[in-house]
Amino acid sequence: MIIKHLPPIFEPARPVLQKIEDAGFEAYFVGGCVRDTILGDSIHDIDIATSAYPSEIKAIFNRTVDTGIEHGTVMILDHGTGYETTTFRTESGYQDFRRPDKVTFVRSLSEDLKRRDFTINALALKENGEVIDLFNGLDDLKHHLIKAVGDPNERFHEDALRMIRAVRFASKLDFVIAAETLAGIKQNAALLEKIAVERIRVEFEKLLMGQNPVAGLNEFLQTSLYQYCPGLAGKQNELSGLLLLNNWQLWNAEQAWAVIVTQLGLDSRDASKFLRSWKTSNELITNVKKMIPVIQGLRSKKLSPLTFFTAGRNAVQDANQVAKLYGWAIPDEQLMKQYDSLPIKSGKELAVNGGVLINDAGVKPGPLLGKIIKKLTVQVVNGELPNDRETLISEAEKIKKEG
Ligand code: ATP
Ligand code: MG
Repeated sequence: MIIKHLPPIFEPARPVLQKIEDAGFEAYFVGGCVRDTILGDSIHDIDIATSAYPSEIKAIFNRTVDTGIEHGTVMILDHGTGYETTTFRTESGYQDFRRPDKVTFVRSLSEDLKRRDFTINALALKENGEVIDLFNGLDDLKHHLIKAVGDPNERFHEDALRMIRAVRFASKLDFVIAAETLAGIKQNAALLEKIAVERIRVEFEKLLMGQNPVAGLNEFLQTSLYQYCPGLAGKQNELSGLLLLNNWQLWNAEQAWAVIVTQLGLDSRDASKFLRSWKTSNELITNVKKMIPVIQGLRSKKLSPLTFFTAGRNAVQDANQVAKLYGWAIPDEQLMKQYDSLPIKSGKELAVNGGVLINDAGVKPGPLLGKIIKKLTVQVVNGELPNDRETLISEAEKIKKEG
């Protein structure tokens, strides 16, 4: 197969590949960018593989950065853009079901492609548009199949992460996992336990944000992979409910996790615990926790100004995206209009602050001050008091007197 017109993202990289070839080596675009080009999907980054060793790449180009030289990765700087190139390599060992014990640089493209996970990810593309297809990846692309390169059983033993990658590609691309590959996952699902949770998380999030999460989740359940994920063991019934949801269109990790938290029926505390077990960032946990009351408010059709205020704009929008799956959402525009009509959107917008209350309302620094600020905030948010300095000062004096 020859691709006549490569997408624009490849253009500036072509001279880089040419230069490597002119020096007597091979260089190809590889992996996801080739797959997505043939599918006509958007491409976010390009990977380059080469027969040149890192030292040889560094001799060819004036400006390079050692971004991962022990794995064979060197970044070539060209006209202000960085291109990561990785030397062809084989991997061996895999005593621990996750990382090769040894990485060896090789000169042969086929050795490099052989170690890749799925046939659709094992295509190489030459600078001139020629596609190299050593494992029938083009045919599998055509038939929308995710098929392990070589023996699935062996490949999942080498690196158990590949199993969850299979279900995430099923969702991301809306493809089907080939029968033998699926059987290999079922047989080896328990090996997923050997994999660092951070790596599983990356793939699971991509699954939830894919084109067809229901397809990916269905395989995730069928193969029992979920049994080996934090907080999901034994949750077959709750997770099956996900398969009945419609309108999946999640575009960030916060939304993705909020769906899972909602489906598991977790309150704020249990959600924190659950998300910590997946080693998500504290920022993500905070954001998901902000979404929970909004989702519940949409569900019960009882959204108060205070719920909006506490959540903030992003959490309100994200919550509605989650609520769409359950049929609880209201039109985005209407929801954001409600949010925008809040008298104040953050504590900083309150017409008084601690200093003002101490100086002008005679409140002493301490717990009462905090309580007063909180009370005034709630009253302003609820529209019970105007956000006006004089009014708030006299209200503070009143509360202070009442104690
Ligand atoms: P995406 O567009 O979602 O990034 P991708 O195919 O580029 O998809 P990456 O995770 O970025 O996926 O990996 C790049 C390439 O590296 C893959 O296409 C595949 O060839 C190879 N690869 C990645 N992870 C593995 C793995 N665990 N085992 C074997 N090959 C892998
Ligand atoms: Mg990629």
